Amino acid sequence: MAAAPNRLDSFLVFMVSLCLFGCASATSKLASPASQPPINKSPGESSESTSATLALRSPLALKSIPLLRTRNALPDWYTATSQVKSDWVASLHSHVVGQDWPEEVRRTIAKTLDGAGGEMFAITATGAESTIGVLEFTPAYLEELVQIVNYPLVPPDSPDPDARMLLDPARKRAAATRLAEAAGMLSETGYLDGKTNWGGGVVFGTRFLYYHELGHVMRAAGSLPLEITLYPEEEPFAEEIYSDQFALIMLALELRRQSVDLQVVGFSGVAFAMSLVALSEFAKTESEVGKRSIKGAVYRMGRIKHYLTRIWQPEGAVSIDAVKAMEAYWTMFTDLLRMVDVIPSPIAAQLHRTATAPKEQWIYARDNIVKWCTFGNCERVRSGLAKVYDSASQQQQGGSIRDVITYIVSETALLEPEIGLRATLQGSRY
Ligand SMILES: [Zn+2]
Repeated sequence: MAAAPNRLDSFLVFMVSLCLFGCASATSKLASPASQPPINKSPGESSESTSATLALRSPLALKSIPLLRTRNALPDWYTATSQVKSDWVASLHSHVVGQDWPEEVRRTIAKTLDGAGGEMFAITATGAESTIGVLEFTPAYLEELVQIVNYPLVPPDSPDPDARMLLDPARKRAAATRLAEAAGMLSETGYLDGKTNWGGGVVFGTRFLYYHELGHVMRAAGSLPLEITLYPEEEPFAEEIYSDQFALIMLALELRRQSVDLQVVGFSGVAFAMSLVALSEFAKTESEVGKRSIKGAVYRMGRIKHYLTRIWQPEGAVSIDAVKAMEAYWTMFTDLLRMVDVIPSPIAAQLHRTATAPKEQWIYARDNIVKWCTFGNCERVRSGLAKVYDSASQQQQGGSIRDVITYIVSETALLEPEIGLRATLQGSRY
């Protein structure tokens, strides 16, 4: 811990100026999927279906994306990211990792990844040649959280430009509902619509996630001696905590000569990134008693706060306003999450809505199911559909819901066998 200022100065050597989204520069040559190394899973990290996400688009996507395009039903973020010509992750990485970095780290390939499966935002595969991938939807999902967390705050009725934002309880309830819906989407489909007008919180949140992955590579290369004594309950998240610490140092170095305003935006990004990690954990974990937890994210955020308030802020490396902004956003997020009692089922809601709509509108339900399957976790979408079908079979008014599902299955016949709806529903009572 006492060595932190020296580490800070030596890391400074590595640092280069800001390179935000879309900055054009030489990008490193990307490896083909076949040559990619295995993935080292870190304890406590979302790492479900990692091999799938390091691969190129799924066979389903090759068929379904053209279909969704003709229907104008592709996700906004997909359209936006495919318009960005340069790979910003590769570009950022080549700016950050220079001559003085360890050989293993310099050889690391960094890139945006086609995401299918959801819930992961950035991943690392370490080995002879490490790979860092930031999933293509990460900025859009972060933006969704930025909007949710900011929604309860309204400008005060005051001419003072520095007057504090006010909390509107009705808007807070609405934000909690939207958070519950986002959790339901992640839980049941592994997909979020997200937005594409990405601001500073998104940019810095994404950079924090990238730096965190770079921390894993540094650890694997034996070049990250920044260790702190952890409490026993933190041990399962040790690798995550060490990588967070590295990410925080990188971000602080990047921002330390910047204005307080930019520091505030930058460290708010940490809160949004950790909120996304927490929401994913929340959406995924459900104990036998139906309780959901964000234990990993809470321990990690505890260490981040500790590091900033006990070391960096007193040393003057980070402004107090930036630390306060980060804490305020994290508190808002956890407050909202505490208000979430029930996570709604987006698949059931979609099917119920469709069942009462005129038949010519049913195609929207088909488009959504195809979209969730293409860009989210299709296995979970299939089992969600089967569950709704089975429960509709036991209800008297279940007929029209079964009709909708039958319609979706027949309307996706061209996407079989990749989409797998027919086989799944044959396994239930279809
Ligand atoms: Zn990690």
